[in-house]
Amino acid sequence: MSLYKNQSLKIYNSLSGEKEVFTPIHEGTIGMYVCGPTVYSNVHLGNVRTFMSFDVIYRYLLHLDFKVRYVRNITDAGHLTDDGNVENDRFVKQSRLEKLEPMEIVQKYSVDFRKVLDHFNFLPPTIEPTATGHIIEQIELTEKLISLGFAYESSGSVYFDVAAYNAKGLNYGELSNRNIDELIANTRDLDGQSEKKNPQDFALWKNASPAHIMRWNSPWGDGFPGWHLECTAMSTKYLGETFDIHGGGMDLKFPHHECEIAQGKACNGVTPVNYWMHTNMLTMNGLRMSKSTGNYILPMELVSGDNTFFEKPFHPNIVRFCFLQAHYRSVLDISNDAMMASEKGFNRLMEAVKNLKEITPQNESTLDISRWKKDCYEAMNDDFNTPILIAHLFEGVRCINILKEGTAALNSEDLKIFSQTFETFIFDVLGLQNVKDTAANTDKVEGLVNILIEMRKMARANKDFALSDQIRNQLIELGIQLKDGKEGTSFSIQ
Ligand code: AMP
Ligand code: ZN
Repeated sequence: MSLYKNQSLKIYNSLSGEKEVFTPIHEGTIGMYVCGPTVYSNVHLGNVRTFMSFDVIYRYLLHLDFKVRYVRNITDAGHLTDDGNVENDRFVKQSRLEKLEPMEIVQKYSVDFRKVLDHFNFLPPTIEPTATGHIIEQIELTEKLISLGFAYESSGSVYFDVAAYNAKGLNYGELSNRNIDELIANTRDLDGQSEKKNPQDFALWKNASPAHIMRWNSPWGDGFPGWHLECTAMSTKYLGETFDIHGGGMDLKFPHHECEIAQGKACNGVTPVNYWMHTNMLTMNGLRMSKSTGNYILPMELVSGDNTFFEKPFHPNIVRFCFLQAHYRSVLDISNDAMMASEKGFNRLMEAVKNLKEITPQNESTLDISRWKKDCYEAMNDDFNTPILIAHLFEGVRCINILKEGTAALNSEDLKIFSQTFETFIFDVLGLQNVKDTAANTDKVEGLVNILIEMRKMARANKDFALSDQIRNQLIELGIQLKDGKEGTSFSIQ
């Protein structure tokens, strides 16, 4: 029997503002859509936090034996900056800056995104569609919305008609609890506003000016799709008109997800998503991590130590462990202290994994393993509460210590259940990796590089520059960069 049949999973639904018992639409198969990155620059750690929350949610659903169709898109066109000015198309701007084709920008940062996620041990989604690969679907949706009276053309652009939507008794603003009158009052001047019937109408299709290089032919002339539309096009194509879970960061609730709800309901007459899930923000220095404000750190800068914020490099496992010690709906402030504490905690957990293998079964059990196992599941069943799960795993560490001391005992059946549960939650559900890949290895690499730095110093003292260059260059080939400074030679690992 599938494991999920024994569990009662509750998910906090942002739409109702309550934790609800999770009931999938199709028995045993779940559709999950997560808004992916806009690939015009490197992902920062904040982005990684959001995607990691959904990685763990995906992992737990798989662990419960659900079949999951997990769609995470790549936004490679049409995501305009907030002011809506088409000249501020992120891809076009970045391509000018880097003197590359927009699609080279897309490729460069898609590769970076996947590389980073690989480093952090993410499971790939089952479908990773791109906006530019679904232009036809977006044009079809736009045509459908026009024919149903929910959208109108204006000067080669097409806008969603929020007033027409509300006039049909549909409720624009239901996710973010916004009132349409307030919206009208608060809307700033937007580019092309004069083309709109109402300032809160949003673009489904934008007319491309002659200079705009990312453009596609459409019934309304050359243009490009609006950002909100791509997610409706791709989610309905792969998951259906109504699917189970839709996720993203909290900042996407409005307008992005609000618009997705409106597009879905207008097009298909049904609510597109049963459970809306939103992750909270990663902050640094108490402020939201964001590219635009410069308050950010790149994932690989944290891993290599090539930054001025953290005192030392941290392995991706430690970053994952740190992130998962906060619930996905809580703000997490990243700091050197938090990372140092996570490193300590993570090493304790790995030490316990090692020790558990050395415990021998006894005739009788003196610990209540089934209660402990139930607690672990209850934590994850309560809206994927990873910090509570980790607290139970540390309770497991305490048990391992007393089992090792011999002041507690487990029979072979209980020991088997304990080991399986402990390892499954650590490795399969939380996605942490084994000790041999992490802390101990990092120490060894550091030790070896330091030996080579010493040997290079000796070579230079002997004026053997060929050897000293050879050491430096071969380390570079391995992704290890030596830096000579006043205080001696340091290194960073890419
Ligand atoms: P973007 O590429 O800007 O569309 O962002 C990709 C994802 O990262 C979205 O789900 C955002 O909500 C999320 N995100 C952006 N900044 C942060 C942050 N500081 N902390 C957590 N998630 C974030
Ligand atoms: Zn989206």
